[in-house]
Amino acid sequence: MKLLSNKIRLQDTVKTHVMRLKVIFVLIIILGVFISCKKETSVEKPILKDETEPTKEVVVKSVLTAKEQASMSSEEIINRLQEGNENFVNNNLTQRDHSEQRRIAAIGQYPKAIVLSCVDSRVPVEDVFDLGIGDIFVARVAGNIENKEIIGSMEFATVVAGSKVVIVLGHTACGAVKHAIDNTDAASLGLDALQDLLNEIRPVVKSKEGVIANSKDESFTNHIIHQNVKKTIADIREKSPKMKEMEQNDILKIVGAVYNMKTGEVEFL
Ligand SMILES: [Zn+2]
Repeated sequence: MKLLSNKIRLQDTVKTHVMRLKVIFVLIIILGVFISCKKETSVEKPILKDETEPTKEVVVKSVLTAKEQASMSSEEIINRLQEGNENFVNNNLTQRDHSEQRRIAAIGQYPKAIVLSCVDSRVPVEDVFDLGIGDIFVARVAGNIENKEIIGSMEFATVVAGSKVVIVLGHTACGAVKHAIDNTDAASLGLDALQDLLNEIRPVVKSKEGVIANSKDESFTNHIIHQNVKKTIADIREKSPKMKEMEQNDILKIVGAVYNMKTGEVEFL
């Protein structure tokens, strides 16, 4: 009897332990669910916060209108380009909604300037002046020289489309100018077109204070880069009497500038 009684008591004790384990197990599951809910809540919080907070970034969605183009003087346009270049140097470019700008600009264009730049891949013209869709015309040719087609493009930009500034933009470390300085014989390599281009730059390669150097002389090369920009401007005035006349009547400004590859700064001449 006593043995049976002990067996029953043992069974009861085992049952009690099993029940306790079940309760602990259920409590662990409830605790686990609670913690995972809390975790989800804590992940969601910042997303909800971000959605409700207004963005502080100013995103430009508009493009230049005919009215805005007409209201700006040449001096104001140059000032804005200089301010834009400061933004570029400070890595503070304006945020733009290109999709919206593209949609609006499809109707027409009223750019404020035309920039003639070298083809160099390290001179991103629009970025250099913090500009976007519809802001400027850009013509590019190695060594930023002029030719009939480039001048025709400038006449279209200014006389027809209303731009009030022409900028001839040279840049430091220009390969085309360097080869012109070193008198590279491109023709001997069968590159007649490139030779013609270098011949356009060659006349400005003259001694500086009695010293003729090669392109390894950075100071001399920079001097020739400046001279080349000035020559292009003189050629534009000579070959386009209409633009020259507009400049004399203060309707247009033709200016030179040099982009510094290392600093990002544009020096207006
Ligand atoms: Zn170049």
